[in-house]
Amino acid sequence: MRAEIVAVGTELLLGQIANTNAQFLSQKLAELGINVYFHTVVGDNYERLLFVTRQAAARSDLVIFTGGLGPTQDDMTKETVAAHLGLSLVIDDTAMGRIASFYEQRGITMTENNRKQALVIEGGTIFPNDRGMAPGMAVTHADTTYVLLPGPPSELYPMVDKYVLPYLNHLLPAKQVFHSRVLRFFGIGESALEERLLDLIERQSNPTIAPYAKEFEVTLRITARADTVEAAEQLIAPVESQIRSRVGEYIYGEGETPLHEVFVDALIRQQVTISSAESCTGGALSALITSVPGSSAAYRGGIVCYSNETKQKLLGIPGDLLASDGAVSKSVAAALAEQVRRTCDTTVGISITGVAGPDPLEDKPVGLVYIGVSVQGLPVLVKELKLAGHRQAIIGRTAKFAMFYALQRLKER
Ligand code: ATP
Ligand code: MG
Repeated sequence: MRAEIVAVGTELLLGQIANTNAQFLSQKLAELGINVYFHTVVGDNYERLLFVTRQAAARSDLVIFTGGLGPTQDDMTKETVAAHLGLSLVIDDTAMGRIASFYEQRGITMTENNRKQALVIEGGTIFPNDRGMAPGMAVTHADTTYVLLPGPPSELYPMVDKYVLPYLNHLLPAKQVFHSRVLRFFGIGESALEERLLDLIERQSNPTIAPYAKEFEVTLRITARADTVEAAEQLIAPVESQIRSRVGEYIYGEGETPLHEVFVDALIRQQVTISSAESCTGGALSALITSVPGSSAAYRGGIVCYSNETKQKLLGIPGDLLASDGAVSKSVAAALAEQVRRTCDTTVGISITGVAGPDPLEDKPVGLVYIGVSVQGLPVLVKELKLAGHRQAIIGRTAKFAMFYALQRLKER
């Protein structure tokens, strides 16, 4: 199956937003084993969109459009594809009902153009929009399948996972499944990981092993092709255990759950409370923790102690310690972790002090970071990191290291 993706939107051409929908869709199609041959971006313009649609129809079995399903005049993807196919648009009752009740509940009068969002191509398969108004749809005509999806990623992603991928799976000629298992790593870089698994990666064709780095974490996707999910899992299992025996100490989780979610989940399960004193990360740790729903069960609060004065006044760090050792030091990290734990009366106190850059501080180099983890009943632990990279990368990685060390420390309790 030859597929291509058409992203519709003038804002993409103007460079106001990046075409992340095409990236997302390509990743999902690759997991299904569908080859994507082209990405096209076209503005909100009827003639040019029609041209691109004709071109795609001539060379692809599957054309996926994103964007332009909304209510406004410049949203015209359905209209254009319908015109290309010589089909009409009809009202989808389910979508219409949802739109009407949305306005009713808010006591606003629905405008006429909102009806437009409930229009679908006649005879098509409808994908409900659980996060918005305009449904997605698919229609097959003259051996080409056209899939039309909304532009906002918050609507697109769940629609694809829940409705579009199962639909596409049925379209595939061979009934083979692609099944993946994702292992999540922290504390090891993508290239170091690849190097330690190189012979496995090179030798395998089914399953395949692919490392991937994102948001300062590394994931490894093991993908097998087989007749059933169970058979694919049997192919994956021995490879996974080999990987675990080599680099298991860096594995903190599986699937799509990132480190901060695993962390909060572990805190809640172990019924521990936590507080933080952050200097160079400026609250990044706190923001990550509180981005997880339900984190209030574990997180009591944090102090961004960005100056020596605040470290002294709010957390009682002795001025002479700051003067003798400097704010970026092992001893201050230890004191901060202990003090914030006591002040907030929590099981765990985490501290972070370091140099995020771009300039050195107190003659200490950019990337030098101390993380303190104070756990009730255990001696305070301080880790030193020497991180490379720009300011934002140092901040992001430090916040994740703090959670990783706290997770490890909690296991020693
Ligand atoms: P709406 O009902 O919001 O108008 P729509 O289906 O008509 O949705 P567009 O109007 O094309 O979609 O885009 C809406 C928003 O979705 C854009 O402003 C942008 O934020 C996001 N978006 C659209 N296309 C993409 C894309 N290819 N990649 C990432 N984000 C996108
Ligand atoms: Mg729109």
